[in-house]
This record gives sequence, structure tokens and C-alpha cells, in this order.
Amino acid sequence: MSRMIGIDLGTTNSCVAVMEGGEAVVIPSADGGRTTPSVVAFAANGERLVGQNAKRQAAVSPERTVTSIKREMGTDFRVRIDGKAYTPPEISAMILSKLKHDAEDYLGEPVTDAVITVPAYFTDAQRQATKDAGQIAGLNVLRLVNEPTAAALAYGLDREAPQRIMVYDLGGGTFDVSILSLSGGVFEVLATAGDNRLGGDDFDAALTEYILDEFRKAERIDLRRDAAAMQRVREAAEKAKIELSGLVQTTVELPFICVQHGEPKNLSVPITRAVFDRLTAHLIERTRKPVEQALRDAGCWVGEIDRVLLVGGSTRIPAVQRFIADFMGKEPSRGINPDECVALGAALQSGVLSGTLTGLLLLDVTPLSLGIETVGDQFSRVIDRNTSIPITKSRIFSTASNFQSSVDVHVLQGEAERASRNKTLGKFRLSGIRRAPAGVPQIEVTFDIDSNGIVHVSARDLDTGRAQDITITASGNLSREEIDRAVEDARRYEAESAGIRAESELRMRAENLVKEASTAIRADRKRAAALDEPVKRVKRALKARDTEELRAACGALESVLHAGC
Ligand code: AMP
Repeated sequence: MSRMIGIDLGTTNSCVAVMEGGEAVVIPSADGGRTTPSVVAFAANGERLVGQNAKRQAAVSPERTVTSIKREMGTDFRVRIDGKAYTPPEISAMILSKLKHDAEDYLGEPVTDAVITVPAYFTDAQRQATKDAGQIAGLNVLRLVNEPTAAALAYGLDREAPQRIMVYDLGGGTFDVSILSLSGGVFEVLATAGDNRLGGDDFDAALTEYILDEFRKAERIDLRRDAAAMQRVREAAEKAKIELSGLVQTTVELPFICVQHGEPKNLSVPITRAVFDRLTAHLIERTRKPVEQALRDAGCWVGEIDRVLLVGGSTRIPAVQRFIADFMGKEPSRGINPDECVALGAALQSGVLSGTLTGLLLLDVTPLSLGIETVGDQFSRVIDRNTSIPITKSRIFSTASNFQSSVDVHVLQGEAERASRNKTLGKFRLSGIRRAPAGVPQIEVTFDIDSNGIVHVSARDLDTGRAQDITITASGNLSREEIDRAVEDARRYEAESAGIRAESELRMRAENLVKEASTAIRADRKRAAALDEPVKRVKRALKARDTEELRAACGALESVLHAGC
């Protein structure tokens, strides 16, 4: 069995870890960092850049760079580049592929199995999309683990005393809060709540707006329609935000941000931490309700929480730390690295699955209630939120009209009493019901949630035994065929990119040889006669983009060049 890796597929940054000698360790990326920016860029030559290189390109060509794709997982959003539309799982797969390659380089062996983390509050569609991304990247996703659970795992492994902990996870794009009980190697999630659309990106956006407004006030220029300027301002806003976690004041300086009447303009906006706090207070406040709800659902009050763990880069913001310390009446624990603990927890879970780590049990919950639509737009719950998973649960429903021969089962996930306000997971029809007055037929609807939090639903007419089940493919999720096609595309790209890489290496070699030859001629004019024609041949082949001829021409030039050495 090949080694299994644990992946934290983050909105802003991703991280990969592996079990080594009974411990989880972070695998450094090929670019040298311990985390990899979750950014994909499409270069003009068809090459795809992922991570640090892609992030660098964001400023030059923002329209060919994709960031924060995690926010779109499970939706029908598409990234359109060069006439091709990419789904969010396909973009995420490019990031996963890079992490897989980095792990393979580090371990020196192929990697096929992975545990991937997802925000606890991810819906079924988002979980399914994450699994699809893994598959497209050529990974066998053995388990999806909730991020806060993974963080707790990384934190609590060596702590024997029973305790209750709260994991407050504010990352780049999502907010999750979970309450767990840790006791004798059993990690039981008691409740989880959150907001799928709240994270560091929103803090950046608030600061970006402020900078743009200040610049407009000073210069009467609105940069909002200037894509390149906007990208620079956004990046500078994030940088300023990060600086303000350590400093009480900073200044955003962007020279030559635009040109007006032929005159270049510089942007210089001072920002204090107090201003930043004022601009973003409402965002921090948005975390209050989920925290209260998680505590309520877990059946405990703040005093019963022994520890608060902060996870996710945005918990480095001092006002966020102050908020949670005030709310909980105690300082959060600082023992864990918020950027790495989720990936480390995923690696630990991979150790549990592969049997290298024993004595650990992870009991997770489903974050949202599941049920079906019944008459009058009502949402009838079958499984309540925060129920431990895996679970199978059935409920009997009946027909609403006399002699109804079929029922449409509308499967929903959410907390609203009105069906139409919840998220549709899928619809299917159970037909062939025996003719009977309304309310007589007994239709058993069964929900089954697996350990990944992914839902399967079936319905059975208890009278006739007729049954129908559904593979949930909510709008935005990929069908089997679409996944197969994406897997094929990814494989083809891998093969093509190997070709593109080989070609650009050959062209670089050719250009270096030409330079070397002209240096040799300058040093010794007598060599010109022998080198002139081979150099011309290389230049011709470079121009004609003829790979085979270029390889031959390089060989010929090299032998003449080095014959004289
Ligand atoms: P994550 O998804 O956990 O990698 O978190 C990424 C988010 O954390 C991004 O929005 C970053 O801008 C933000 N972040 C990282 N470091 C800091 C910091 N020192 N202060 C404030 N925000 C930070």
C-alpha cells in the first residue's frame, strides 16, 4: 500500500502532511514554503502554474489567475479561460495535483491515497465537489475530515485528561466553530456551526474599499474599473491587514497605480489598527451567532469549555482574539500553529485509517439537518443537525391526494422550517404506488450519511416493496461522465505539460548554447568559421519551433563548441 497523505485544501493556502515515525509532519512545497497558496494561473503558453508562482502572476494578469476557488465549490460557477470552462472541482484538482507531486518528490514514491479536510459546515454539494476534485487529481480520497476535528486531533493527541474544547476556525473564506469532547483517545464532536461565506477575504475586501475611497477622495480617481490596479490594491490590502496584526499603524504605498492626463499617480493611504478594527467589526460580530448556536447545540455553557483553540490565518487578527477571549472569559490556547494543524490532523487521521495509529476514535457530526419537502412548503426533518455520523435513519411519509400513483421526493439540507429556504440536494420520483386514499400508502424514506458526511437517500413503498434511490447530484455538482471527462483532461494535461516543460527546457538549452558560442567567438575569432553554421541552424530551428530539428541542431552545435575545449 502506498503512503497516505493528509491535505488541508484551504481557501487561501493549502498544506500537506504525512505520518513519519508515528508522528505527523508537514511536507514542504517545491517552492520552499510549508504551505502552498491555493492559486492557479494559466500562462499564455498553456502552462498551468499553481502556488507561489501562480500568486506572483496574479498581479500581472489577474484575468488568467484563479484565487479562493474553495468558495465556489458545489456551485455551478465556471472559470472561463481561452474558450474553456473549468468547474471548481477541476481548479481545486490542479491545486491537489501540485500537493500530490510535492509529496511524491518528498517521499520518493507515488502517492495515491489521501485524507482531505473540509470546513465542518460544508454542505453535501461542497463535500461531493471536494471528493470529485480529489478524484480528478488522481487521488483516492479515503476520508473527508472536518477541519476543526482535524485541528483538535493535532492538538489533543497527547492530552490524557478528559476535556471539552472549542475550535474557532476563521480562515480565508469560511468560518467554523466546533465543540468537541476529548477523552481517552476518543474525539467526539458535540456540535458544529459556522458560516460558509465568511473569512479573511471579507476583511481584505473591507480594507480594499477603504483604500479605494481614500484614494478617490484625495485624487478624484476611481480605480474600480482598472483590473490591474484593483489587483494591486487587493494584494496591498491583504498585506496591510497582516501587518496590522503586529503593528498599530501601516501605510499602503502603491507607486504608479494609474496614469491621469499623462501623469503617473501614486497611492499612499495610512491605516491604523483602530480604523481596521472599525471597518471589520461587523465581520467579527458575524461569528457570534454560530458560536452561541454551537454551545447551545452541545448543551454546554462557556464555563464548561476547558480550552479554546484558534485555527485559520484570520485568527491572528488581534480583534478576533479579543472577541473570543471576551466571549469565553478566557484566553485562547496558543500551542498550535493555525496554518499547519489542520493538515497535521488529516495526516493523523490517515494514520488511523491505515492502521499505523491505534487507540484513536473520531466521532464526527453532520452540520446541517436533512429532510424532505412535504405539503405546504414544509421541511420535514429526518436527521437533525449535529447527529453523529455515519448514520442511517428512516421516517415514514404518505401521499397527499387520493389515488396518487407516484410521489416526488425533494431532498433538502438546512435549518429553515420552509422547504424553499433550504438547499436542494436532489429530487427523485417513486412511482407505482398502489391506488389508495390519501394518507394510506406508507412510504419509507431513508437517509444514509457516510463517514465523509456525504448523503445517500432512498424511498420504498412498504406496500408494494417498490424502491427508488438517489445519488445526490445537486446543481453545480458533476455527473459521473463530467468527472470522467475531467479526469481524462487532467491526465492529458499532465502528459502535455511534461511535453511543454521538455520543450521549454530544450529552448533554454538552445539559447544558452547560442550565448556560449558567441562568447567563444569573441574570445577567439578563429572559431567563428566552425561555429557560424551550427549557430545559424539552432537559430533557424528555434524560430521554426521544430523540436526534433532543434534537438539535433543543439547536439551538433554542442559537439563543435565543446570539441575545441
Ligand atoms: P487559512 O485559510 O487558514 O490559510 O487563512 C488564510 C487567511 O488568513 C487569509 O485571509 C490571510 O490573509 C489571513 N492571514 C494570514 N496571516 C494573517 C495575519 N498575520 N493577520 C491577519 N490575517 C492573516
